[in-house]
Amino acid sequence: MMIFKGINRVTQAYGGNHGGIDIVGDTDPTVRCVADGTVYLIQKWDGKTKTGSQSYGNLVIVIDDKKRYYYAHLKSIAVKQGQKVKQGDTIGIMGSTGNSTGPHVHFEVRTGATTATRIDPTPYCGVENRKGVYTEPYRYTSKDGRRALQIAARLAKPTPDDLKLLDMDGDGKITTKDAREVLRKAAKLNVK
Ligand SMILES: [Zn+2]
Repeated sequence: MMIFKGINRVTQAYGGNHGGIDIVGDTDPTVRCVADGTVYLIQKWDGKTKTGSQSYGNLVIVIDDKKRYYYAHLKSIAVKQGQKVKQGDTIGIMGSTGNSTGPHVHFEVRTGATTATRIDPTPYCGVENRKGVYTEPYRYTSKDGRRALQIAARLAKPTPDDLKLLDMDGDGKITTKDAREVLRKAAKLNVK
């Protein structure tokens, strides 16, 4: 699961003296929780300090049984300390607080109770550990399948969004063949 819906643009990779990964949400600035857990700590930025823990700016740390997940430089925070959070829940809005030069989220994963070790965060946020643009594959549902069947049977007119989503062979129309393909994907058969 990715932090942002739509485009997740990695601007700085993890490694060297960079303990996390920097990601910009170009489509939607909502920072979403990547794993179920509990809000372990909330830090509010003082508006000026760029060193020490304040370098993280407005920060949310979520903990599960093994790891801590840091969401840093937030513009605003949507959770409270001690709150249980689920994957996909809104953590806050991407920002540029703390030691930051532009809006992004610095996402960090740490293990260990007292001697926290920073680990490669990319397996937890669905991007690769290098600069680039990443998007979550669209998950087809049976509702999409029903819509495609309706259009194929001329019971409904396709919208531009339908064509973008349901025209699987890209021939500009939605046929029963497209509908079958959508249904296969919805049933997670042959999903690429
Ligand atoms: Zn960073």
